[in-house]
Amino acid sequence: MGKTIAIANQKGGVGKTTTSVNLGACLAYIGKKVLLVDIDPQGNATSGIGIEKADVAQCIYDVLVDDVEAKDVIKPTSVENLYAIPATIQLAGAEIELVPTISREVRLKRALEEVKDQFDYIIIDCPPSLGLLTLNSLTASDSVLIPVQCEYYALEGLSQLLNTVRLVQKHLNQDLKIEGVLLTMLDARTNLGIQVIEEVKKYFQDKVYKTIIPRNVRLSEAPSHGEPIITYDSKSRGAEVYLDLAKEVVSNG
Ligand code: ADP
Ligand code: MG
Repeated sequence: MGKTIAIANQKGGVGKTTTSVNLGACLAYIGKKVLLVDIDPQGNATSGIGIEKADVAQCIYDVLVDDVEAKDVIKPTSVENLYAIPATIQLAGAEIELVPTISREVRLKRALEEVKDQFDYIIIDCPPSLGLLTLNSLTASDSVLIPVQCEYYALEGLSQLLNTVRLVQKHLNQDLKIEGVLLTMLDARTNLGIQVIEEVKKYFQDKVYKTIIPRNVRLSEAPSHGEPIITYDSKSRGAEVYLDLAKEVVSNG
């Protein structure tokens, strides 16, 4: 039975998509069968993995809103063992269209249940909000991985996210766990990063991954080539650290 991990933080630009794509690809690289689910209307994970949005006939929108089966929207990627359910801008309407529908928060969970046993890991790239799409993701997941950018106010907004996690645990998915907190975009040249690491560790303690993601230019270049870092530049620091993260995630069980 596969493990489903939502990558969530309602702040934009903290590294959710970079982590979804590269953790997914690195898990696949070490032999796990992985499904990457893009549930952000911006579709950055979709293009980041090399899927041309113009060529996508059906996406996660059709699964959530029109009851299309997950297996019918899963696409292979250029990375062996890595599959994806893409998102297109059509998904932007889902947040509103789902409001009056029955069991609106459990639609993704029901859809993924049908394919879960075919994968070792399902990674869900959440949008930068705590709306219905993120609620669907948290309800469908075994755990949530929270990327936190190493900058001032790193912890700001996290109490809101944790509150949402508690509400989901109470009403929708009592088994939801915190998978881990990932520090991202560390700039090793400043003292600020060190302060933030300490602050986040004080708050989340052993939930913080040993692996810390530094700023790495190759990581920011890879998406425009439609490739995860492990194929774009396997020798880069970015590839090294996301491979470390994948191993840490596996060893945490
Ligand atoms: P989110 O999905 O949370 O909005 P992204 O993963 O899209 O965040 O990252 C925001 C921007 O920062 C993107 O342009 C991405 O390429 C860049 N980025 C993310 N992580 C790193 C990193 N470790 N080093 C350099 N650039 C990064
Ligand atoms: Mg994103």
